[in-house]
Amino acid sequence: MSKERTEISEIGEFGLIEHLNENIKLKNSSSLKGIGDDAAVIASGDHVKVVTTDLLLEGVHFDLSYAPLTHVGFKAVAVNISDVAAMNAVPKQITVSVALSNRFSVEAVDALYAGINAAAEHYGVDVVGGDTTASRSGLLISVTAIGEALPEQVVYRSGAKLNDIVCVTGDLGGALVGLQILEREKQVFLSNPDMKPELEKYQIVTARQLRPEARMDIIHEFRELGLVPTSMMDISDGLASELFHICKASKVGVTIYEDKLPIDKQTYDTAVELGLDPITCVLNGGEDYELLFTIDQKDFNKIEKHPDIHFIGHVTKEEEGKYLVTKSGTAAQLKAQGWKHF
Ligand SMILES: [Mg+2]
Repeated sequence: MSKERTEISEIGEFGLIEHLNENIKLKNSSSLKGIGDDAAVIASGDHVKVVTTDLLLEGVHFDLSYAPLTHVGFKAVAVNISDVAAMNAVPKQITVSVALSNRFSVEAVDALYAGINAAAEHYGVDVVGGDTTASRSGLLISVTAIGEALPEQVVYRSGAKLNDIVCVTGDLGGALVGLQILEREKQVFLSNPDMKPELEKYQIVTARQLRPEARMDIIHEFRELGLVPTSMMDISDGLASELFHICKASKVGVTIYEDKLPIDKQTYDTAVELGLDPITCVLNGGEDYELLFTIDQKDFNKIEKHPDIHFIGHVTKEEEGKYLVTKSGTAAQLKAQGWKHF
């Protein structure tokens, strides 16, 4: 008798999450939102807690031949804080679990924790627990972040409405381009160890890859401006893929404009140097950890002049689909290629 076997790569990371979620039913009334957003939402007295967790594996998510341990520690925290930010919540606590092989010394662990503690300081969170264990193959870090918000402040992926304005913070594509440079220089070094990696002129993009920032500054500004986006998520898998998530959750379509997409000059120049299309890097590059959100048109004047928020398009009806209007004025269907781990 032949037993059926389905490869994880056939359904992909998001397909796997959906598949696992099919058998999960929420039992407690305090579980306001389970799997399917940037973080879970849990009722807690007059406010809510948001909870999110991420697992980073050596060789999959980071390469210690070019990623300093201190940066790995910082990034492990920042990517979780970014998911708290994506819910429009303020992070308060983290737990940190690590698995280490005997390749790592106490000094190496100290370097990792220097980054973890620097991020905890930077984002104002307390390290309240975790676990350490042995690993047979390299380093594994799992961080869980807990944040707080008032119930009316929480922003889900599902709230985008027709005619809302689509916004992104910062610039996009840098982390992917930075990764390509680090990989290229690694290969150069491996084939000729006497060659010193040439990284000076790529500092912005390599920093975007090695030590990303969660945009908590934007969340605090939203509070000051009295602005609550209608939907939001952080950009970890690429703008196009995240737009698909918001459209699916909100049952809407979207039109974005190529000439509105924010790209840093170094990202653009480096992409061209690498033979990559800069716009493809912006749409499909992962790990930028900027925020993608939609706002009601009545809120536009609150952030109209913000130097670091870009208005890239608008929300349409679901049946109108998802489109990118190119610089030449033609509408091309958006494709979510995203970032594949499987
Ligand atoms: Mg996220």
